[in-house]
Parts: sequence; structure tokens; C-alpha cells
Amino acid sequence: MSSLFPALSPAPAGAPGDRLALRFGARSLTYTELAAAAGATAGRIEGAGRVAVWAAPALETAVAVVAALLADVPAVPLNPKSGDKELAHILSDSGPSLVLAPPDAELPAALAALARVDVDVRAAGPVPEDRAGDGDPALVVYTSGTTGPPKGAVVPRRALAATLDALADAWQWTGDDVLVHGLPLFHVHGLVLGVLGPLRRGGSVRHLGRFSPEGAARELNDGATMLFGVPTMYHRIAESLPGDPELAKALAGARLLVSGSAALPVHDHERIAAATGRRVIERYGMTETLMNTSVRADGEPRAGTVGVPLPGVELRLVEEDGSPIEELDGESVGEIQVRGPNLFTEYLNRPDATAAAFTPDGFFRTGDMAVRDPDGYVRIVGRKATDLIKSGGYKIGAGEIENALLEHPGVREAAVTGEPDPDLGERIVAWVVPSDPAAPPALEALADHVAGRLAPHKRPRVVRHVDALPRNEMGKIMKRALTHG
Ligand code: ATP
Ligand code: MG
Repeated sequence: MSSLFPALSPAPAGAPGDRLALRFGARSLTYTELAAAAGATAGRIEGAGRVAVWAAPALETAVAVVAALLADVPAVPLNPKSGDKELAHILSDSGPSLVLAPPDAELPAALAALARVDVDVRAAGPVPEDRAGDGDPALVVYTSGTTGPPKGAVVPRRALAATLDALADAWQWTGDDVLVHGLPLFHVHGLVLGVLGPLRRGGSVRHLGRFSPEGAARELNDGATMLFGVPTMYHRIAESLPGDPELAKALAGARLLVSGSAALPVHDHERIAAATGRRVIERYGMTETLMNTSVRADGEPRAGTVGVPLPGVELRLVEEDGSPIEELDGESVGEIQVRGPNLFTEYLNRPDATAAAFTPDGFFRTGDMAVRDPDGYVRIVGRKATDLIKSGGYKIGAGEIENALLEHPGVREAAVTGEPDPDLGERIVAWVVPSDPAAPPALEALADHVAGRLAPHKRPRVVRHVDALPRNEMGKIMKRALTHG
């Protein structure tokens, strides 16, 4: 197969060697420097079975993962904020022979038994010859653990190339793009899209270390062209915009604002559009499938939709009995199933889970429920496991109720779940963080508000006021933690 990173070849195909590849704070590497540093690290791990990467938001993490890909050694990114128990689980599950880490990282006790290789970003070594095959495992990425314990998805090299090239097509993404990055580096979003994506194109990454609307504005006003974020980041941006003309100018001038990892609330999308004239585009993906759909750069951006299947991705909606839904009516809800070169190969050590995840004809069951609009745009209504409420004979998606609640001035954050009800089967519960804790909105007001926007059977029957919603590091709402205390 073609090399994953043409711009790192000795005779650069695409990017000039002195172009900025990566910048983290005050430290940066050009393509020539990245090739040398990753080549040096690759030389130190060649032949290792699997390597763990201490995925701090640092230059070393990017160099380590590129080195592992160059050496054709599968990398297992570790979340530095994981507790010892989770780390111990991931290590015993994935069995790496060593851990790559920044020299200044203090590694926790759970990693004590592993040999440590410090990544030296100023070392120099040759880029090894590319002998890797398409199907070779490139990464073992653990899922976010939103619906159960994290599972290790084995991602082949083919999937990285396929998904990044499909996004390049959809986003007109080139080596001239400069990405503002403020995400962690141990998941698909921050690592595959945010680091490997620009490097495959021969473009530049500027990592903020820690995301802030001001930091994003500074970079976008200084030549950056794209911003990738999770919905909590766009929420912070939406909140900051009224008092920050620099931020409004920065967003208005960006080529592409992209959101993913969870649904972007319509309320935040619309507030950003009103203040900047720009619409954030959403893409939808998973650890197991990398990217499945996106609103295209040359398409019509629209709130509440994740766009159309990416090139090479076959996507269908199916009923519970497995029959496909053909209607593009914006109403018929089915599970999203996908097939294509973007898919993972297996869950590590989980043949049971792997077998259950695929249909006999090779489609992956995402567990996400959606409808399709007449023009083929996919709108996700929620996850089968936590967001689909069966109430009074209806199948109701939590997402649209959450969107409606967020439009109520008394609601700062909202999550909707179902709980058993003797009459309805399940009743709709609204978990609400009030805008003003001294005056939380009453059930009746919220129920009327929702019934005024959606069908009456979608109104919440119970409201629970909470100080905050439980979220993981990607800002995803952990509904299991809400409903199980
Ligand atoms: P686990 O599989 O361990 O329960 P997880 O599904 O949250 O955790 P990820 O693979 O990181 O782990 O996340 C993929 C999920 O994120 C998708 O299945 C989907 O539910 C959600 N998601 C991603 N992008 C979007 C989006 N743009 N809109 C709505 N949901 C999204
Ligand atoms: Mg999942």
C-alpha cells in the first residue's frame, strides 16, 4: 500500500520539508524534523509486538504514534487521566511490551512493570522502509466506555488511510490547511483526525494544550484554517461569543468548523451561526468504524444532522427485525449499520463481542439510531441502549427532547432518559442543570415547552434538577452514571 505519510518520505511528495508539521505550545517540528525524530524512535521499537503510548497532550505523543506506524508496530494510546484500575485492565488486555512516553512524564504504578522508552523529539534516525500491509493492525484504541467497560478496537492501516482520504474528499482538506487542535490524543477524534489527518495531507497541527475559546480565536486569527471540537467546546464558544468580537471574527474567517464525538445541540449550532454567519459542520464516527458520515464542505450545512455517508462507506438503517428502511422520510427510525474499508477488524480478546457486532453480510451494528431526510442527510436520534425511550407505544429519541429543553431559558444543560412506568412502559425523565439554581424550571413549564415544539407524547413526565451532568473527558454525557446513581 502507499505509505500513510507521503510527506515524511525522503523525497517529500507534497509538502516541503521545512513546512510546520506539529506545534504544541512553544515546541514544534517541521516535516524534516518529524521524519528524523519519528525515524529514531521507530528504530528503537522495531520488532516489538505492541507498544503502549502515554498519550499526554504533547509533541512526544504525536512522534511516538507516527514512529509506531512507521515501524509497523501496533500502538495502544493510554489516557493519562485513567485511574490505575482502568490502566491495569488495558495493559493486561492489550499486552504491550513497552511504553513510549515524554521524558518528563511521571508514570503511575500500574505501568511500573513495563519497560519505558522516552521519546526524544530532537533525535535523528532514518525513516524505515515501508513494508506494512493494508490489513496490519495500526492502533488498538479503547472505546469511550459510555455504554459499558471500554473495549479495545483493533484498527488496521487500511482504515486509517480510507477514513482520512474520505474526509479529505468531503472537506476539501489539503496540505495548506492548518488545524487548531484542543482535544486529548488517546481517542480517534484527537489522534486519528487531529494528528494523523493533517500529517497524511502534509498540513500543520497547532495544539492548544488545553482548549479555550481565546486560544482557538488566537490561532484562527493567525492563519489557522480549521477547528475540530467536541460539542462542549462549541458550547463554550457559543457562551463566549456575545462578549468577544475577536472570537466572532476568528470563526467567521475559518475555512471549516467541525464538531463530533457527540451530538452538537441545535441551540449552540444556531447561536454560533447567528453570531458569526458560519455553520459548524458535524461528522459522525466511532472507534470501531472511524468516520461514517459528514456534512460536506461543498454541501449544505444544517443543524442537527451529521450529513451523508463518506465516500466508500455503505450505510443503511434497519428495523429491529433486521429489515432495511428504504424511506427517506425524516421519520422512520432505524439502527445505523455500516460497511466499508474504514472498519476495525475485531475487539481485542472479545470474539463474542466481535461476532455480535457484525451482521452476516458484514455490516457493523453501530447501536446508534437515526432517521434519513429526503435528501439523504442522516439525523441521529440517539443510542439504542440509552437514548431510545419506548413510551406509550412510541419509540422516542432522547436527542430531540434534549434539543428542545436546551432552548428553554431556564435550562443550562439537559439529558433525557427513560424509566419504567406501569402505564406507559417507560416514562420520559428530564435531567436538568438549571440556568439559575435559585429558580429551577418546574416540570409543568418544561413539559409545556417541549409539547409546544414536539409531539405531546414527547413531553417529560419527571424532571430532576442536578448541579452538573456526569461527562467523560470528551464531554460525552454518561447516562449510565445518571440512571444508576
Ligand atoms: P462505548 O462504545 O465504550 O460505550 P462510545 O460509544 O462513547 O463508548 P466512541 O467510539 O468514542 O465510544 O464513540 C462513538 C459514539 O459517539 C457513536 O456510536 C455515537 O453514539 C457518538 N457520536 C459520535 N459522533 C457523533 C455525532 N456527530 N452525533 C451524535 N453522536 C455521535
Ligand atoms: Mg460505542
